[in-house]
Amino acid sequence: MKRIVAFVCLLVVQCSMLFGMEDRLKQTGASSGEIKSAERRDLTQEEERWRKAAEDQAAAELKQEQAAREQRGETAITAGEEFLRGRLKFLRTPLAPRVPALEKEQKKKLDLAKVLPESAGDAEKRAAAAKASQEALAKAAADAKTAASRSALMPAIPLVNVGSTCFANATLQCLFQLPSLQTMVLGLGDVKTWKPVHPLEQQSINFIAQYQYLVIALQSWTPSTAFTPITFCTTMRTRVFGGARGSQDAAQFFSAFTDDLGDLKGKTPFDIAVNSTIVCHECEESSAKTETEHYLALSIAGGTLKDCLAQYMQGEELTGTEQYRCSYCNAKHDATKTLKVTSLPDILVLQLKRYTGTTAITKNTTPVSFPLVLDQANFYQGDEKAAGVVYDLVGMVNHNEPGHYTAYVKSSSDGIWRFCDDTKIAERTSDQVKAVADAGVDKVYREATPYLLFYLRRSAAASSSAA
Ligand SMILES: [Zn+2]
Repeated sequence: MKRIVAFVCLLVVQCSMLFGMEDRLKQTGASSGEIKSAERRDLTQEEERWRKAAEDQAAAELKQEQAAREQRGETAITAGEEFLRGRLKFLRTPLAPRVPALEKEQKKKLDLAKVLPESAGDAEKRAAAAKASQEALAKAAADAKTAASRSALMPAIPLVNVGSTCFANATLQCLFQLPSLQTMVLGLGDVKTWKPVHPLEQQSINFIAQYQYLVIALQSWTPSTAFTPITFCTTMRTRVFGGARGSQDAAQFFSAFTDDLGDLKGKTPFDIAVNSTIVCHECEESSAKTETEHYLALSIAGGTLKDCLAQYMQGEELTGTEQYRCSYCNAKHDATKTLKVTSLPDILVLQLKRYTGTTAITKNTTPVSFPLVLDQANFYQGDEKAAGVVYDLVGMVNHNEPGHYTAYVKSSSDGIWRFCDDTKIAERTSDQVKAVADAGVDKVYREATPYLLFYLRRSAAASSSAA
C-alpha cells in the first residue's frame, strides 16, 4: 500500500510537471509531439533505472488488470486500467527540462537585499526586513513539531513581491483565510522530516513544508510589517514551474499545491467528486468514471456564474477532431460528455477559464457576475442530503492586463474584507466587494477580472444562527 501511495505521489509530482509543460506548449501552439529534443530533460542514471523499473511494473500490472477483466467477460475499461494507462503514458513521455544549476540560482536569490523592490526602502532596510522573515521561518521550522496545537486562524499580512510573484501572493492570501486548510496542514506534523520513497518526491515534501512554515511564521508576525516569502516562492517555483522565473498562472500554482496535499495526505478540504459520462452516438453505450478534482474549471458561457455552472453540467458534444474513441464500436464516433458533481467539498474553488487559443494566448475579459452566497443546487447533483447547504464567498484572485494579480479576502478571524495587492492591504466594506461580484469586474482596480473564486461551506451551526 505504501508503495502505491508513494507511486501515485511521485506520479502526480511528475505529471504536474508534464501538464505544466503541456500548458506552456498549448500557449505557444506546439503539440506534445513537437517538443524539441533540446528541451527534453535527460534523466540521471538513477532516475532512468527507476523510470524503467516503474514502466515494467506498470505494464505488468496493466496486463493483469486486463486479463482479470476479460475473464469476467467485461468490455468496459476499468478505473484501474485507466489509471495504469495514464501512468504508462506518463512514464514514456520525456520530462520538462531540468533547470541548470538550480541550487546555485537559489543561493544567488537568497542575496535578499537584491530581490526586494525599490519601493521597500533602501538596501539596508530591505535586507533587514528579509532577514527578519528568514528568522521567523527558521523559528517556524523549529515549532513545526507542535504545529497541530496551533490556531487555524491567520491574519492578512502584506507580502513582498520577490520577482513576478503576485500570482502566488494573491493566491496565498486566499488560502490563508481557509481555516480547514490550516487545520489540515498544521495537523500533518513536521512535514520536512518526511522521508521520500524516491528522490523526486522531495520537491513535493519541500513545497508543502514551506507552506506549513509560512503559516506558522505568519501567525506570530506583526500584521503591519511586510513579510518576504522568498523561500516559499523559490521552493514553489522549483516544484511547480521547473524553476522558471516570471509571472505564472495562479490556477496552476493552486492546482499543484492541492494535488501535492492530496498525494501526501489522501484527502483535502477541496475534494470534489466529478462523475463524467460519455455516450457514443453510434451504439448509445455509455462509459462513466469518477475523478477527484480540487476545483471546477468553468468555461465562460454567459454573463453570470450560474450560466457557467449550468454549461459545465450540461456537458459538451465531442465531434470533429474531438471525436470519442468508443471501446464498444472500437472506432471514433461523435459522443456527448456530461459531468456531474457528486460530493460537496468544504471549500469550493471555481476557476473562470479566461485563457484560450493555441497560437497566441488570448484572454476572455467578459465580466462574469457571481453571488456572495452560492446555493449547492447550482452545481451539485449527488445523493448527499444537501437541502439548505450554502457556500459563502471568502476570497477571489483577480487578474488584470498586462498581468497583475490581486486578491480580495474575507478574514476568518474578524470577518472583515480586505483588498490585497502584494505589500498593500486595505479594508473593504461588503458593499464594495458586492459591487465587484455584481459587475464581474473590479472597476476600481484597473478593470481586473475575477479568475479564481473561493467559497466556504457554511457550517450547520452558522446556517441555523444566521437563519
Ligand atoms: Zn459506440
